[in-house]
Amino acid sequence: MTISRRVFLGGSTAIATVAASQLARMGSSVAQSDRVLNLYSARHYDTDSALYEGFTQKTGIKVNLIEADAAKLIERIKSESAASPADVLITVDAGNLWRAREAGILQPVRSRLLQTSIPVNLRDPGGYWFGLSRRARVIVYNKEKVKPSDLTTYEALADGKWKGRILIRSSSNVYNQSLTGSILHAHGEQKTEDWAKGLVANFARNPEGNDTAQIKAAAAGVGDIAIANTYYMVRLAKSSKPEEKAIAAKLGVFFPNQRDRGAHVNICGGGVVKTARNPEAALKFLEYLVSREAQQIFASGNNEYPVVKGVALDPVLASFGSFKSDLMDAAVFGKNNAAALKIMDRAGWR
Ligand code: FE
Repeated sequence: MTISRRVFLGGSTAIATVAASQLARMGSSVAQSDRVLNLYSARHYDTDSALYEGFTQKTGIKVNLIEADAAKLIERIKSESAASPADVLITVDAGNLWRAREAGILQPVRSRLLQTSIPVNLRDPGGYWFGLSRRARVIVYNKEKVKPSDLTTYEALADGKWKGRILIRSSSNVYNQSLTGSILHAHGEQKTEDWAKGLVANFARNPEGNDTAQIKAAAAGVGDIAIANTYYMVRLAKSSKPEEKAIAAKLGVFFPNQRDRGAHVNICGGGVVKTARNPEAALKFLEYLVSREAQQIFASGNNEYPVVKGVALDPVLASFGSFKSDLMDAAVFGKNNAAALKIMDRAGWR
């Protein structure tokens, strides 16, 4: 199992990657100190270390990081049960945060600061999880093949004119499950199934690879448009590799549904673990993550949109333009997840 562990000691960072078995042996002494926050994170961006160091500098509390994908972390907290050292769980996509709440591993917290800083549609109504950064799921188009005036909505991608032209990853990916969940909320089951069938009929190839793979395939002409999260485009555009920069230069970003509900926006977020040994530090950590300083790190580190107003965007991200976001409750994506997955399955979206 690939679970890695790092300890962040503000300023100087000691990084140790150890096997999960070894981890179980070394975990407990660290876990019991109230000067340590045990963070389970499914984010895998190296730039996040700046967040942990910033928190340690402010509070003197060290961050002990366990990294794995969301499903593994949720499973692990469940199986560790009352013995879990985890204080905070952070993951991407509201669908995963919803699953964590459903799994019973989070506890509700009340914080005036979190409530006033984070828009109401980007946090759990019961205080189980909070959105910390935003990402839009957009249409990336090959500028040689598609004009922005050819594009309108997610719904219109089911039109026959896109036959053989659309690149999108598999239905096993939570980003697509949440997008489909948002269509389901907007249009109901029958229309969503018709849409999914039309979309699948327009695929340029059987789904393979991640969002970056779809973007690269659009630039290479495998298809004409790709569906991807905004930060993947920024990452390519800012790459130190000239071939990746060239890929981004061939492509445009289109924000769908600007004349109706707005572009689909998802979040990265976190919550306090039910069995947290250090719940005060856990809350402090979530509160730190909505500070201007931390929000700026989200914005410049992984090129995400902040949840807090007035924080500057990465210049490349800002160059995509401002847009109207769908203000649908992020909790809906989780609520609709199972139904969305069934629809995708019936539509033959593999
Ligand atoms: Fe991602």
